[in-house]
Amino acid sequence: MLKYLPWILLLCLASSACAEPNWDAVRDDLIELLQALIHTDTQNPPGNELAACRVLEAFFEEEGIRHRTYKGDEKGRGNLLARLHGTGAAQPVLLVAHTDVVPFDSTEWSVPPLSGEIRDGYLYGRGALDMKGMLAVEAMTLALLKRENVPLQRDVLLLATAAEETGGSQGVGWMLERHREELDAAFALNEGGRIMVRDGRPLYVAVQTEEKVAYNVRLVARGTTGHASVPRIDNPIFALARALAKIEYRATPPQLDPVTRAFFQALAPLDSTVQWVNGTVRTDNPVYLALLTNAVSPTLLESGFKTNVIPPYAAVNLNCRLLPSQNVDAFVDSLRTWAGPGPYEFHYNAKSAPPPASSVDGAGFILIEQVCGEMFPGVPVLPYLSPGASDGTRLRRAGIPTYGLLPFPLEESETGYFHGKDERVSLEALMTGLKLVYRVAELAGK
Ligand SMILES: [Zn+2]
Repeated sequence: MLKYLPWILLLCLASSACAEPNWDAVRDDLIELLQALIHTDTQNPPGNELAACRVLEAFFEEEGIRHRTYKGDEKGRGNLLARLHGTGAAQPVLLVAHTDVVPFDSTEWSVPPLSGEIRDGYLYGRGALDMKGMLAVEAMTLALLKRENVPLQRDVLLLATAAEETGGSQGVGWMLERHREELDAAFALNEGGRIMVRDGRPLYVAVQTEEKVAYNVRLVARGTTGHASVPRIDNPIFALARALAKIEYRATPPQLDPVTRAFFQALAPLDSTVQWVNGTVRTDNPVYLALLTNAVSPTLLESGFKTNVIPPYAAVNLNCRLLPSQNVDAFVDSLRTWAGPGPYEFHYNAKSAPPPASSVDGAGFILIEQVCGEMFPGVPVLPYLSPGASDGTRLRRAGIPTYGLLPFPLEESETGYFHGKDERVSLEALMTGLKLVYRVAELAGK
């Protein structure tokens, strides 16, 4: 055997085959880490993300990877930054994942949502997809790069953020305000994209390069309170219902920007739910319509305090997802017009305009394209406007080109598990995700 060693070494230098980890052995470690993260209750509110930082600390401690937890201003909140050192010849690459999850109603679930139970090849639990699965994959990527002694030109960082599900001010926002220089990176890899599978085969890889902007607009109708035995025409619940009924069927016309134009033009030949006609897109697919229009979803209703009292007001929260180019004041003016005359007030907080999209010519996009080309030959990699918001906007605003990728190949039906009941990820998709993120980080380090 010994006499072949130089040849083996030469072969190793000539190809990246020797840097290939033993994936079967890694699988159990990955599952164990993901289950530990899911067992940790980080429903936001209140978040309590420091508990997830503790899980990551123990993991990185064992792997011998430098890390630091930054306690936040609020009790139980915090962010963690881990750093695997490279030579410093190139700017770092930043892997980002949030540790908080949305709340759940366990009575709706078929397994306890914090169990991490495995059934029929799926790992169940709140956060399996959004986004403790990717967090575990990113943490394991650092561990594998270290275990395999992969030579790195640049540092590989992992930022585990708090509070993403409630806007990120205690999470990525907090870190960028106080520790921006430690997050310096050529690009960041975050959530927000997808690998869409149809009939068992990947159809396209969507890499989030920009995102819609979320606003909560509170619409309040006011009336005169009084005894319910004497009906009043200014009952605010009737007034609110009228306004909502008028808003329901109104929408701004479909609009394309450079990202969605490239996305739909490339998608049309592959997806029968999309037609590209004379430079415009036609589709009835609600998932795609959300990328073309400003969307309004009523999410919370509030009114009344006693069955026999006409309440003084009725209010609804309108969760508005606006296209990046849409000005919020102008949009709320549209809501006002659609609602028509009435005792209505619209309350909302303005935000600064979203940052420009991350470039498809950037190193992050090119690397993802290259790796997906190896893993899913012939499958197009497309820039993507995500309908949902993520930490990506704050990172882009801070000048870090950010690419959103959920590295787990998913059928369209599986995307319903996000924030839903029985959230789960298949173990196969989990391993594909690990190979993908690992390969991107490995190539980035060269
Ligand atoms: Zn998320």
